Amino acid sequence: MTRFERVIRIRLLARRERLVESIASSALRLRSAWANKSEAAGDWRGLELTTEELRNVDRALLRLVQRAYGICERCGRALGTQRLLAEPEAALCNDCDPAASSAARGPPPVS
Ligand SMILES: [Zn+2]
Repeated sequence: MTRFERVIRIRLLARRERLVESIASSALRLRSAWANKSEAAGDWRGLELTTEELRNVDRALLRLVQRAYGICERCGRALGTQRLLAEPEAALCNDCDPAASSAARGPPPVS
């Protein structure tokens, strides 16, 4: 594993931990809302999105292990360092991913 891949792996694992915590607290909120018979449709959608994000992070971690990380799953070209730093779980290059143009500009500000 290269130094860059080790840095990415640490970022992915940290992100994974935050996502798992978020999913756990969403599940608790939904259970509470369900027990109180309150409307919680929005929370379900948020939980779905977070779960999908977790799947993408896990797939990226798998690609690291399989030595396929940073290679576009569609066209086979390298994704590039900037793209991977902006979106470490990216599986497609800027040309193949229509949603990639904003991510390629750089990571969002740290909040
Ligand atoms: Zn591509």
